[in-house]
Amino acid sequence: MKESIPLTWRRIPERYRMLGVQCETCNTKYFPKRSVCPKCRRKGKLSQIQYSGRGKIYSYTEVTSPPEGFEDQVPYILAVIELDEGARLTGQVVDAHKQDVQIGSRVEQVFRVIQRDDPEGLIHYGFKFRLV
Ligand SMILES: [Zn+2]
Repeated sequence: MKESIPLTWRRIPERYRMLGVQCETCNTKYFPKRSVCPKCRRKGKLSQIQYSGRGKIYSYTEVTSPPEGFEDQVPYILAVIELDEGARLTGQVVDAHKQDVQIGSRVEQVFRVIQRDDPEGLIHYGFKFRLV
């Protein structure tokens, strides 16, 4: 974890952190974490692992027609990120234009506002990715 991340963010639930699990039986890594290894079923023994948050872009698309609540962010890049540890997940790539992004581009995790809820001004934070 970077030191610039406020302490409150270290305390928020693990879905906002790069926590996953690894099956000790077959060594497959999963993110987000799950309770059962689909390969090993009950024989699998899952243990929690901390992902580095670094990886590369596996595929991407530019979103111009966003879901409700994301209208103020378009256009944005939505990518499938292949983490260095092997798991894949979908995430937004921030501070990047479509022409900057390529398959194989290196990315790292950053904390950003995911969504601002109305009318109470509740703000959800989570992880996104940026080019490195
Ligand atoms: Zn397994």
